[in-house]
Amino acid sequence: MRSLNIYEKFTKTFREHPSLSKFLIIFAVSGGGLVAYSEANIQNGAKIDELPEVGNQKKRVVVLGTGWAGTSFLKNLKNPSYDVQVISPRNYFAFTPLLPSVTVGTVEARSIVEPIRNIVKKKKVNVNFCEAECLRIDAKNKQVYCRSTQDEKEEFVVDYDYLVVAMGARVNTFNTPGVEENCLYLKEVEDAQKIRRTVIDCFEKASLPDVSDDERKRMLQFVVVGGGPTGVEFAAELHDFVSEDLVKLYPAVKDFVKISLLEATDHILNMFDKRITTFAEEKFHRDGIDLKTGAMVVKVSDKEISTKEIKTGKISTIPYGMAVWSTGIATRPVVMDFMKQIGQANRRVLATDEWLRVEGTNSIYALGDCATINQRRVMEDISSIFKKSDKDNSGTLTVKEFQETLDDICDRYPQVQLYLKNKKMSSLVDLMKESKGDVAKESIELNVEELKSALSQVDSQMKNLPATAQVAAQQGTYLADCFNRMDECEKQPEGPLRFRESGRHRFRPFRYKHLGQFAPLGGEQTAAQLPGDWVSIGHSTQWLWYSVYASKQVSWRTRSLVVSDWMRRFIFGRDSSQI
Ligand code: FAD
Ligand code: MG
Repeated sequence: MRSLNIYEKFTKTFREHPSLSKFLIIFAVSGGGLVAYSEANIQNGAKIDELPEVGNQKKRVVVLGTGWAGTSFLKNLKNPSYDVQVISPRNYFAFTPLLPSVTVGTVEARSIVEPIRNIVKKKKVNVNFCEAECLRIDAKNKQVYCRSTQDEKEEFVVDYDYLVVAMGARVNTFNTPGVEENCLYLKEVEDAQKIRRTVIDCFEKASLPDVSDDERKRMLQFVVVGGGPTGVEFAAELHDFVSEDLVKLYPAVKDFVKISLLEATDHILNMFDKRITTFAEEKFHRDGIDLKTGAMVVKVSDKEISTKEIKTGKISTIPYGMAVWSTGIATRPVVMDFMKQIGQANRRVLATDEWLRVEGTNSIYALGDCATINQRRVMEDISSIFKKSDKDNSGTLTVKEFQETLDDICDRYPQVQLYLKNKKMSSLVDLMKESKGDVAKESIELNVEELKSALSQVDSQMKNLPATAQVAAQQGTYLADCFNRMDECEKQPEGPLRFRESGRHRFRPFRYKHLGQFAPLGGEQTAAQLPGDWVSIGHSTQWLWYSVYASKQVSWRTRSLVVSDWMRRFIFGRDSSQI
């Protein structure tokens, strides 16, 4: 056998032990003060690895989608008693929060993707991947109909015992005429690559000798529709690209460039704290980004965008060279079709229960952007809650009786805890006291009507979870943990009391933990809203953004690529080649 030279030994060691590369990265970036800490991947169900394989009785789990939700599920699934079939038209996972950076080449497209086969290759669970699109879910016969993305004629059917739907969502155009034909989206890696090419195209076209000034102005007018986090970040990235790199390369046309951001409501970044919104609006104003709020796009033609001023109804037109549409998401047709089958036709988004199981089905779970949790209202169950708590059937509830079911109530209905927190109450007993007036704790007794009035405001705290990577990833981890411990929890349920029926739920319901949110604003400045409404804005927050996004990469390979892209950009600027 040929002996390996030093280079081969080095690369072999790193390929076989990818975690070693973390030393390289930390070493490489320590000068810049970047902290690349490891992903907080909770290792649930550690004992699962020791479970024996159950011969050919393995349950078939089919996972649709390789985005945040699907990948997080696959990464955390450890129980080898499943046969997993993954179906997705994309054979890779994409780190979407860095897509705006890909549109201008701050980060390269290949640096933010990881082949799904790479992610699952070392797992003890049997995972197969098929590059195909799911065309139809047949819930009755437990089958999914698929079509290969390689060969459109190749269609096949896959049986499942459990189905995990993690297909994400599509872009919402609100049926605005001309959007599909004329606007670019920013949803997938291909979209980001297309935007990058189009921006350079516009500059090259505008630099041709026979172009009139009016045409030049139109070609270099970039319009971003939607003032949410994606639209704002893209506008900021584009502004940096133009002002830091392109003005030096295209000095003759630089004065024609204009970036406009259109938003239908009164402010951009509505989901953020007011301080962040104000800072972002002022910064864009200083940067010369034309911010038009209260302007709704009503039509897009190949060269013009028509907007309607919400307050006055006045229609105006903006000639444009490139328009990027980023106004939110809608349900995919295949999911709509599935919703019709299971009696959810009147809903806009697929509904699951608090355990992520699709309502109206037994063995189908849905997570991420394609679904929403339909949180049960306390008021729907109030009589059952009363009955379960009133152990002595006296028709009234004492504090002691109530306290015994308190944890289960809080577990089952998370809005209760939120309500108490907002009211600054330490427990439900305070709520009982409030409804009974100034009485000694021991003597409080409530009848069912009094309990109803005490809890009447609780459901107002219910909110849908946002469609973010953070939610999707946490749901994937949660569901994998449930699958890992399915048998254990069947025998020893760990969930709260079933108030309507007898017994307990197998698992605790899913609980979302909000870790904060970033809004990069360009010019090496970022705004962050962290739990507890802690707001931080500026250059130091940008460094926090770099550290968090480096740490959240799905593999050490992408982590090192992203960090080296950032360093390359700092040293050489962004590449504007038209390839
Ligand atoms: P996706 O990640 O969209 O994955 C869906 C998967 O399903 C894909 O693999 C797709 O190929 C596959 N699929 C599609 N159709 C089918 C089919 N018919 N059959 C089978 N598979 C199918 N969130 C944050 O928390 N922080 C951020 O900073 C952030 N930034 C963002 C920036 C951009 C530009 C975008 C677009 C989104 C951003 N998000 C961010 C939101 C985040 O990306 C989504 O919430 C997240 O991707 C949702 O995960 P998902 O798994 O539900 O869907
Ligand atoms: Mg009683």
